[in-house]
Amino acid sequence: MPAKERFLSLSGRKILISAGPTREHLDPVRFISNPSSGRMGYALARSCRDRGALVTLVSGPVELAPPRGIHMVPVISAREMLAACRKAFSEADVFIACAAVSDFRPARTARQKRKKDGNEEWLLLKPNPDILFTLSRNKGKRVLVGFAAETQDLVRNAQAKLARKRLDMIVANSVSGGRGFGAKSNQAQLLLPGRPPEELPLMSKEKLAAIIVAKVARLSAERGRGGI
Ligand code: C5P
Repeated sequence: MPAKERFLSLSGRKILISAGPTREHLDPVRFISNPSSGRMGYALARSCRDRGALVTLVSGPVELAPPRGIHMVPVISAREMLAACRKAFSEADVFIACAAVSDFRPARTARQKRKKDGNEEWLLLKPNPDILFTLSRNKGKRVLVGFAAETQDLVRNAQAKLARKRLDMIVANSVSGGRGFGAKSNQAQLLLPGRPPEELPLMSKEKLAAIIVAKVARLSAERGRGGI
């Protein structure tokens, strides 16, 4: 980590972080989700807090203990996550979208547990809102950071997301062969607009979070305060 980033403070900066998976219920006992553990987002939240930021962590259902000194907003579905993020975004200087949001939800959620009735070909899906894309339309002076978990064409796909979602940085990691999701370590590339990708070695999510937050601190210092 460059020395000029190591000690940059985030004191007083308002940072919104989304983390974990979302659950999209088919009925009260079944849902569509993914194996995101929330570890990366929680590590980012602690790292931002330790640099003095005021952190709001909007989290899908995970097994992790809520970090101390962080404003937690628990949510279940993508639409709940969008509503919670929208609220915190209006005040935020930085938004780090780390959540593994389910891209689809069932077109209908049954009120009661669905019975086996011999007609099992019934599941219709609808697209979920893209939280980061939606909020990026009102980016203002905010620093936006996204994540891209890809199974192919990692850099090309991540670069397309960087531009489409108006990001200042995207953290790209390969999830082919079950890597990344749910694990305690991560191997990532950092992409910033107009710069060559920076490939990082395999490291703990804590260490990766510290590197990402150091870059966020620099971007935030360059941008100055104020989301609007
Ligand atoms: O799913 P995708 O690869 O497009 O995710 C890229 C980024 O967009 C991630 O930072 C993720 O948190 C965010 N995202 C989101 N809402 C979605 C899908 C993705 O905020 N519905």
